[in-house]
Amino acid sequence: MEADEGMEIMFGDVEEIVRSCRFYDCGHGNEPGCAVREALESGKLEEKRWNSWLKLQKEMAHLEAKKEGKLRLKEKQWEGR
Ligand SMILES: [Zn+2]
Repeated sequence: MEADEGMEIMFGDVEEIVRSCRFYDCGHGNEPGCAVREALESGKLEEKRWNSWLKLQKEMAHLEAKKEGKLRLKEKQWEGR
């Protein structure tokens, strides 16, 4: 999707930092050793940028959930036939 590609470019550096975080299920909050936290502290990552990335993730998750809900509804309709 075009929108996804745009976001990858916009937040490519943030994504990279997130991926380099050593914790599998990190909330990137106050965990010591978190790559995101380190980047924020060193100024490598702007807090404003990080916050907008977080916001975007929430929106994306919301959209995904919506999509899945719709799919499930469709499946149910199919089963009912
Ligand atoms: Zn982290």
